Amino acid sequence: MKSIIIHSPYDLRVENYPIEEMDENQIEINIATGGVCGTDLHYYQDGGFGSIKLKEPMILGHEVSGHISKIGKKVNNFKEGDLVAISPSRPCNSCKYCSQGIHTQCLNMRFYGSAMPFPHIQGAFRQKLIANPSQCVLANGISPGEAAMAEPLSVCLHAASKAKNIFGKKVLIIGSGPIGTLCTLIVKNAGASHITVTDIQDNSLFFTKKIGVNELINTRKNPEALNVYKEDKGNFDITFECSGTQSGLKDGIETTKPYGTLIQVGLGGDPTFPLVPFTAKELTLKGSFRFHLEFPLAIDLMQKGIINVKPFITHTFKLDQAEEAFKIALNPDEKSLKTQINFR
Ligand code: ZN
Repeated sequence: MKSIIIHSPYDLRVENYPIEEMDENQIEINIATGGVCGTDLHYYQDGGFGSIKLKEPMILGHEVSGHISKIGKKVNNFKEGDLVAISPSRPCNSCKYCSQGIHTQCLNMRFYGSAMPFPHIQGAFRQKLIANPSQCVLANGISPGEAAMAEPLSVCLHAASKAKNIFGKKVLIIGSGPIGTLCTLIVKNAGASHITVTDIQDNSLFFTKKIGVNELINTRKNPEALNVYKEDKGNFDITFECSGTQSGLKDGIETTKPYGTLIQVGLGGDPTFPLVPFTAKELTLKGSFRFHLEFPLAIDLMQKGIINVKPFITHTFKLDQAEEAFKIALNPDEKSLKTQINFR
């Protein structure tokens, strides 16, 4: 089967990779669609992020959906041909964090396409994937492309869960790439009274505009526009920092009001932390990393039409054009937000 393998920065290849063996408790899936994520792009561009670096070739990808092609003897609840979204989250279910119910912190996590451990955890950008039934959520009624959006949507549902109550709150979202945009959709649905979204590129804000927010600010073109929110020690109740940048973190801490909450979703370099305003305003900072229980909820919200991700899937490339897909995702133009790859 063909798979998408990163060898080193900018050395991305569509190559053959052996199909893994399946046991009687597992499912074989013909992958239909895979979404290119910021993490995949970090491996493509830099060979990793922070201290995490590629040490061997690795299959990328963790936003996938597909059709069941084979079912193990001991598996119920699924049938051949079913469309499923596949959760890349594979906690061990037995370490001290899993047993406390905090699977995102699993000590033995085998998240697809991750160079954190060595040997690396191979990803899901391959034509056939062997998965456990617990990873698979039936996605009848939505398209394979939408089903593949369950992963980034789950990331944002997890982040929103950190905010506890969004209803009636004044919310700032920093960074309007796919994650910032999906966070905006959720915050809008959760009944925020005011939503401001920032980015340094107009193209990403173009998509956020479709959601209907109060204000869009290009902070590169118009760096003064946030100043009004820095007055009186800040104005936002809740800030979602989705850019993972130094300037994003600084803007977030300066514009969040005393006793407010900043949820850090973006992961980037190693920004300097604005300790003084953060401490003096008695802010709450919450990190949000991946997801676990939110995955079936993401599918449910899409199936019920509560969340519509279709306007944000802007490009779908064939498997053999994988590198083109990565280039578009890396350098989005005014018409691109989420780029996906078709594996069939
Ligand atoms: Zn565990």
